[in-house]
Amino acid sequence: MNPVIDEPPVAIPGLKWANRFATLGADFYTELLPTPLPSPYWVSRNRALAGELGLQEEWLASEDALAVFTGNQLAQGLQPLASVYSGHQFGQWAGQLGDGRAILLGEIDTAGGPQEIQLKGAGMTPYSRMGDGRAVLRSSIREYLCSEAMHGLGIPTTRALCVTGSDARVRREEIETAAVVTRTSPSFIRFGHFEHFSYSGQHEQLKALADFVIDNFYPACRESAQPYADLLQAVSERTAGLMAAWQAAGFCHGVMNTDNMSILGLTIDYGPFQFLDAFDPGHICNHSDTQGRYAYNKQPNIAYWNLFCLGQALLPLIAEQDQALAALESYKTVFPQALEARMRAKLGLPDARPEDKALIENTFKLLAADKVDYTIFWRRLCHFQSPEGREAVRDLFLDRAGHDAWALQYSERTTPADIGLQADLMLKTNPKYVLRNHLGEQAIQAAKLNDFSGVHTLLTLLQAPFEEHPGHDSHAGFPPDWAAAIEISCSS
Ligand code: AMP
Ligand code: MG
Repeated sequence: MNPVIDEPPVAIPGLKWANRFATLGADFYTELLPTPLPSPYWVSRNRALAGELGLQEEWLASEDALAVFTGNQLAQGLQPLASVYSGHQFGQWAGQLGDGRAILLGEIDTAGGPQEIQLKGAGMTPYSRMGDGRAVLRSSIREYLCSEAMHGLGIPTTRALCVTGSDARVRREEIETAAVVTRTSPSFIRFGHFEHFSYSGQHEQLKALADFVIDNFYPACRESAQPYADLLQAVSERTAGLMAAWQAAGFCHGVMNTDNMSILGLTIDYGPFQFLDAFDPGHICNHSDTQGRYAYNKQPNIAYWNLFCLGQALLPLIAEQDQALAALESYKTVFPQALEARMRAKLGLPDARPEDKALIENTFKLLAADKVDYTIFWRRLCHFQSPEGREAVRDLFLDRAGHDAWALQYSERTTPADIGLQADLMLKTNPKYVLRNHLGEQAIQAAKLNDFSGVHTLLTLLQAPFEEHPGHDSHAGFPPDWAAAIEISCSS
């Protein structure tokens, strides 16, 4: 027992704990307790998610909740642990990594299915390597807001329940303060978990892990004659869908190492991510990524590379290498199809036609040539049917001739009636609000001075990003000039 947590566990009313991951056994994790933080305070609570999890509002407002979600107090039913995984980082085998600062509290049954609850920044674990086991307020707010922004956009993601802060000092490039973000997911298993057991020769554990994932998350694979190849194919297809969603939303993850790839095809581990401001296909959001390995336009290929690593890790379970290769092949058809479907929806095209591919390519080319603001372009396009709407789109381009040629191509593809019918749908596909770097930055600077109103406002806007939210147009405008100078690195 951690000597610092000396209070008896509190009850969290209404929750049923399941803790399936813990049944995998001691080879998969180390049981341990969070390390408490001094003088914790609330930064933000996500009431929508709390409701989905079945947490009572009064309890979430309590001192007990603050203590539990800072790691200062245990609750009945928890089985805290840190899991072990490995991974490829920036293209190189990095060996053993693991939850260096995340502690899985356990898993609860909810109306929407089981959800694991994890504290990120909860102190050192056997996998902390050189790290201090902590997360800073800045990065915790970014993860919290972006998880919910992605969820609001309908993009598969882990979610975030709350952020608590502390005055404990943490050294990064400068001294910052510690915070804990409570995340939830049906599972936090990564490609790197499979790589860990495969490359260390623990093939029984590899099989147990694959069986666990199949039984709990991909039950259809169980019916197959080759369940593990089918698992690889199912993960490839989900990942392809995720990449299409990221590309269509203009989302850059920034650190697509295999340990940051969810086996469920969820966006996971928010670090130096960015939503594009000006459209630049080669944009690199991670200041530490000097080679641009994880640039926006490289993400789909990197995901395939990562799936290849997963396939290699699964080979001991797959009889024929050809089966693994065939499973991976599915990515190459599912990704372009999924991207095309998303782009067609963004353009408001009611059906699929062969010429759409060229129109989509031309749209991207045009946006890139003029570095047009990605989110504003799509939102304005929703009103293309009206003369003022058309003019507002045209105003975004310096190259008017280029724009006009594209607009003609677009108009020919869509009769005004179509577009009118589609406008409503387009407004539900092209968000008004995304978590731009400068918006996060402003909320973080205020939060450092104990003003959390900016975090709350952003949470409200980003959880419903397709709605107008009158009075908040300033959150939907062009980024200020200083936004381009914001540097976000791996340091978090
Ligand atoms: P990331 O790139 O943030 O996904 O982290 C890569 C690895 O480093 C994971 O094993 C993390 O748990 C670990 N890590 C990152 N930051 C810290 C930290 N401050 N303390 C301990 N481990 C860390
Ligand atoms: Mg990570």
